[in-house]
Amino acid sequence: MGNSFYDCLFSVFAFVLGAAIGSFLNVCIYRLPRDISVNKPRRSFCPNCQKPIPWRQNLPLVSWLVLRGRCANCGSKIAFRYFGVELITALVFLAVWRTFPWQIAIAYWVFVSILIVATFVDLEHFIIPDQVTIGGAIAGIIASFAVPELMNADTRIAAVVRSLLAAALGFVILWIVLETGKIAFGKKRIRLDAPAPFTWTRRGDDADFVVGAEQSLWSDYFAREKDRLLLHCEEAKIDNHTYSAVTLEFHYNRVSASREEFVLDHVAQISGVVRELEIPREAMGRGDLKFLAAIGAFTGWRAVLFSIFAGSVLGSAVGLVTLIIGKRVWSAKLPFGPYLALGALIWIFLGDVFVRWYVRLLSPL
Ligand SMILES: [Zn+2]
Repeated sequence: MGNSFYDCLFSVFAFVLGAAIGSFLNVCIYRLPRDISVNKPRRSFCPNCQKPIPWRQNLPLVSWLVLRGRCANCGSKIAFRYFGVELITALVFLAVWRTFPWQIAIAYWVFVSILIVATFVDLEHFIIPDQVTIGGAIAGIIASFAVPELMNADTRIAAVVRSLLAAALGFVILWIVLETGKIAFGKKRIRLDAPAPFTWTRRGDDADFVVGAEQSLWSDYFAREKDRLLLHCEEAKIDNHTYSAVTLEFHYNRVSASREEFVLDHVAQISGVVRELEIPREAMGRGDLKFLAAIGAFTGWRAVLFSIFAGSVLGSAVGLVTLIIGKRVWSAKLPFGPYLALGALIWIFLGDVFVRWYVRLLSPL
């Protein structure tokens, strides 16, 4: 009786703590990629009207529901993400608390917080900030020293060594994948059957991009600042500049043609005849390497392998679904970070089950 009362009390505490931490993670998700300090200004502010939000309107979960997802001052919409992150953090904190001994649970609370920030920053900005990845790796090594059970180690020294090795393994494996990937699929070429007319037409902040009969949104082609799109054209026209036999090199914000550069913001229309498109791109960013190092530092070498495996399976499945429901085939928008994070989350809850199943698979007798 007494036991189950305290059980319940602590579970409620874990959930509420998770919601409150989730509220802080929202601040990190918004501020880290924008280089705004996480603790200055101390008060949260409305992204639209910049007005500081008083604490009664900043209660995790509750406020978003009461205010129906709008800023109390200017009435602009506050993204569902704020509520979602608080709810996810609360639920995962509760699940971690119910599953693990308290020392491990506290370390995993830190770990899942890192996973959540990395996921949502990556989804929106296609980067994972160093504070999260390198900071996460350092936090993982410290956590392994404090709680050697994280690394299945008997001594603190052994735990730290395992944590370091797992972090290095994560970084090196993805580095190899990245470098091999560059050789194997570094460039995506789409050679058209016959030269086709194309148009690029500004529409608000974005642009319509039409090649032959296929229409797509301009923003679909660019996932990162360094992404490029090359159009090998028989002829091309940028507003009133005309070119023949030219390669247009696009970045998300500018285009260059035979050494002339145009800022896309000042261009109304581009058209011409294209025979080949080229999308040189990397399958993932450098941030993913450091992120997997952080995952390894918290969870060990088997988790590194599992996260890559599960992340690739999940990523391919989602890629396949978006392909089937008709999203662009050459869309470049595929951040890998969220899949790695999901793989790591599955690992901490189901890793043991998976290892037992795998061992039985290897030794059928
Ligand atoms: Zn506002």
